[in-house]
Amino acid sequence: MAHELDDITAQTECPVCGRELTVSYKTLRLERVIECQGCGETIRPIDDTPIARIQKLIDDVGD
Ligand SMILES: [Zn+2]
Repeated sequence: MAHELDDITAQTECPVCGRELTVSYKTLRLERVIECQGCGETIRPIDDTPIARIQKLIDDVGD
């Protein structure tokens, strides 16, 4: 059921260079890492993007 939320994305910032990165709910759900397009740093967005923030986006979509 939750898988239909995978297309929802959130913005986060690279902790190294500050570049804005788009993280999908699927990435968070699977605890995947993403690679910053700016500096190449490997980021685990789960550390920086609270699920609560994603949950709020989901709630907003539900309106
Ligand atoms: Zn970066």
